[in-house]
Amino acid sequence: MERVFNFSAGPCTLPLDVLKQAQEELINYQGTGMSVMEMSHRSAAYSSIITEAEKDLRDIMNIPDNYKVLFLQGGATLQFASIPMNLMKNGKADYMDTGSFANKAIKEAQKYGEVNVVASSKADGYAYIPEAPAPSADADYFYITSNNTIYGTRFNAFPETGDVPLVADMSSDILSREIDVTKFGLIYAGAQKNMGPAGLTVVIVREDLMGHSKDFTPVVMDYATEADKGSMYNTPPCYAIYVAGLVFKWIKNLGGIAAIQKINEDKAAMLYDYIDNSKLFKPVANKDSRSIMNVTFRTGDDDLDAKFVKEATAKGMTNLKGHRSVGGMRASIYNAMPVAGVEAVIAHMKAFEEANA
Ligand code: PMP
Repeated sequence: MERVFNFSAGPCTLPLDVLKQAQEELINYQGTGMSVMEMSHRSAAYSSIITEAEKDLRDIMNIPDNYKVLFLQGGATLQFASIPMNLMKNGKADYMDTGSFANKAIKEAQKYGEVNVVASSKADGYAYIPEAPAPSADADYFYITSNNTIYGTRFNAFPETGDVPLVADMSSDILSREIDVTKFGLIYAGAQKNMGPAGLTVVIVREDLMGHSKDFTPVVMDYATEADKGSMYNTPPCYAIYVAGLVFKWIKNLGGIAAIQKINEDKAAMLYDYIDNSKLFKPVANKDSRSIMNVTFRTGDDDLDAKFVKEATAKGMTNLKGHRSVGGMRASIYNAMPVAGVEAVIAHMKAFEEANA
């Protein structure tokens, strides 16, 4: 069977070149006589892998020296707890409620301190990103979800938070667009969309924000400890870090994030342009808040939506069904989704529209 165009929201499609290289090196990594999966995380060979992965990530994201890069486990969800445990020095934080993952982060943070939900688009089905208010003067940090995977919305511009550190869950748009890391106190992302396989979570944290964790913080969740130990307090997600390292090199070779951003914007524009001119398909997210990673749309008729998804699957385009809380369709077009995949889905939409007009 041939490979499909996989529009999954994550885990999702990875660059074919990366998979091929991993395959080539699978049973004997660069003459070591073993797979990266079989390697001690303390070995010289593995040490080069993790060091190079960090260096490449720093290069492509332009991460300044006063930020630590941590390669952790536990998924983005564990960070919902790690962030308040590490950063809520004075017990207060501002959160923007722009979707289900923001909501989960809010619920988790409420266990550790006072959470001020400063804006929410929940009443409107999270179809847009609300205006960001100025942060509360005594907030330890201001929390956002930069891209909302389920609804297909994103922050086009990031809030200005002054001295209050901006914390961002970038799980579904990290490495998709250029960002100024210095505007953030902490950036984190689960790897399984734009970086690699599930099991790795990347945390980029400004040094001065570490070292204030609550006494009860589990040691593997303590940023200062993980930074001090080079993400090796215990065994890191070795293989996932290796694959992420290959993805970072793939991005570098394409011309960096600026180059991939251009491709992403072009892919998203093609799809939105078709939807905006369609008589059958309607966008889910408001125009000013549209994601370029997760494109959500629907016909308005659940049966027709299901038929569209079923016929797409038969043509080798999988996982186009929208999240159960939104319905309709969602095309996740992360960095590794080729332009041909977007062209194929548009061709299917056209044919479907003609057949079902
Ligand atoms: N935040 C966002 C924006 C996500 O899309 C997801 C997962 N899709 C999560 C958090 C949760 O990630 P994980 O499953 O790695 O805990």
